[in-house]
Amino acid sequence: MIITRQKDFGEIKKYIKQYRNFFLIGCAECATVCGTGDEKAIQSLKNWLQSQNKTVTGWMIAKAGCQIFGTKREISHYKDLIEKSQCILVLSCGVGTQTITELFEEKPVIPVNDTLFIGNMRRFREFEERCRACGDCLLAITGICVVTLCPKQMLNGPCGGYKGECCEVNSDTKCAWVVAYRILEKNGVADKFYKKISGPKNWLKANSPRRYSARKGIDRI
Ligand code: SF4
Ligand code: SF4
Repeated sequence: MIITRQKDFGEIKKYIKQYRNFFLIGCAECATVCGTGDEKAIQSLKNWLQSQNKTVTGWMIAKAGCQIFGTKREISHYKDLIEKSQCILVLSCGVGTQTITELFEEKPVIPVNDTLFIGNMRRFREFEERCRACGDCLLAITGICVVTLCPKQMLNGPCGGYKGECCEVNSDTKCAWVVAYRILEKNGVADKFYKKISGPKNWLKANSPRRYSARKGIDRI
């Protein structure tokens, strides 16, 4: 999932000072799990806006703000309330915010959240990064994502700096390559894997902006 964190009100205040009326849009997917796009987050923002003498003309929660076709349809039911607003505040990831920008080109659209990373929720609302979307997944070989979890992004680890089982960069974290080795050991393939040197990674696959058509099976890098 995409992990988001709400900006502090001080920063939001800078972006909205010239507007009085707002429409708020949350997202029922990742942002809701993060607590940054659900009804509670919307109500909290609404209360804060009202304390700043601003008006909220209405709000909605998109089923998936990152899907423009569905969001366009859902949002059409709120057209009048959106027209009454001078500005739209979006409580989603950056993708959802840009959906709204695309749908309302003539109205200012402002993100309420910062988009942090692709991650896993280990405990309630505690998140860890797990994938950098490199476009060329190595998990079949390494078991865990060393591209994300090794600060040096070593492809042939561990580096010479690890102490005990800990990473030299983050001493409170296990070396990603030690963790990878343990997984491969349990699978009975560790020795085979460690005899092989990995070649350079094709970072072209991670070049932005990326596009992909699942229908046509076409990449455009
Ligand atoms: S190897 Fe690449 S695609 Fe696979 S989990 Fe890591 S960053 Fe993501
Ligand atoms: S100690 Fe392990 S995780 Fe840390 S930088 Fe070296 S190889 Fe990467």
